[in-house]
Amino acid sequence: MECISCAKETAEVVKFPCPNCSETILRCGKCKDLSITYECKCGFKGP
Ligand SMILES: [Zn+2]
Ligand SMILES: [Zn+2]
Repeated sequence: MECISCAKETAEVVKFPCPNCSETILRCGKCKDLSITYECKCGFKGP
């Protein structure tokens, strides 16, 4: 499992679909807590 925001391998991930393309996005708990911006491969960016 690799976080999309920090690109680090992590065991604790949150999965959610991209609002734009429905691709599954993986983010670690730390990035979620800090509201780090993610960028989907479709180009969508979100908090
Ligand atoms: Zn992360
Ligand atoms: Zn997307």
